[in-house]
Amino acid sequence: LALYEAKGSGRGRVCVFRPEMHDRLEQKRAFEEDLRKALVNGEMEVYYQPQASAATRVIEGYEALLRWKHPMRGSVPPCDFIPVAEEIGMINLLGEWVLKTACIEAAGWPSHLKVAVNLSPIQFRKKSLLQTIVSALAYSGLDPKRLEVEITESVLLDANHKTADTLDGLRQLGITVAMDDFGTGYSSLGNLRRFAFDKIKIDRSFVQDITTRADAMSIINLVIGVAKGLGMAITAEGIETEEQFECLKRLGCEQIQGYLIGRPMPASQLFADQRSKTADRYAS
Ligand code: C2E
Ligand code: MG
Ligand code: MG
Ligand code: MG
Repeated sequence: LALYEAKGSGRGRVCVFRPEMHDRLEQKRAFEEDLRKALVNGEMEVYYQPQASAATRVIEGYEALLRWKHPMRGSVPPCDFIPVAEEIGMINLLGEWVLKTACIEAAGWPSHLKVAVNLSPIQFRKKSLLQTIVSALAYSGLDPKRLEVEITESVLLDANHKTADTLDGLRQLGITVAMDDFGTGYSSLGNLRRFAFDKIKIDRSFVQDITTRADAMSIINLVIGVAKGLGMAITAEGIETEEQFECLKRLGCEQIQGYLIGRPMPASQLFADQRSKTADRYAS
């Protein structure tokens, strides 16, 4: 394989002993090393994306989304580094940092605003999860009612009594639990009935197609019906156009999230509009 790779790279390069496979492994290792240092180097930041009432478009809360800005690599998207963080055992540290940061920042917002934090399945399965959340709440002083955690269907894949206990434990803390990306994974209506979620988030892939494809529209219609029947709230994510918004509102969707309402932004920019307006008022 090494010889084949070396030939394939051609142009008489002297690289018989440095085939592509080796380079790729080196790149992976370098990426992992950079990721291990990212937090202490201050390269991580939590962005916040608004979630608004579908009826009034008033903002009800923000989802915390992790951002990694590396001096050489630039902005690395979460879909590239979260799986690696999970693989190298860094997701608990990163996840705890996001949770704590989000709680501290949200504690300083107007008190009607909630904050939603994504939990990796690895965090969800960790024994100390509830204690970690209790600590973040206590440290920040955030009212548990204002914290929501988002978990994906994959945590229900090998669901057992521990899964149910953890979900119950989370809800006993007074926080809310949302099922993220619903419809993309191993969705089962049985799981919705068996495990009490407070909210279902309809995945962007369905929202994207809602105005052009009847199948996407009927799936969304069904999910909204099931959520309502089971007493769960419903949020649609990834709304980019007024047409998608109108369509979702007509189907009875309660909360919306997407570029149409606002992009993820740094905490410092969240209330920048109001602040500058206030500043203007004082100035004039
Ligand atoms: P997610 O939790 O489903 O987050 C929604 C994603 O959709 C975000 O991508 C957001 O920027 C994007 N999005 C929102 N509205 C729109 C829209 O109108 N159009 C388009 N095209 N995209 C939209 P992002 O920030 O790249 O995050 C991707 C995924 O990475 C998240 O999906 C979540 O699964 C994961 N992630 C992000 N932050 C964290 C974290 O702190 N912890 C964990 N475990 N996972 C995280
Ligand atoms: Mg999410
Ligand atoms: Mg999602
Ligand atoms: Mg999604």
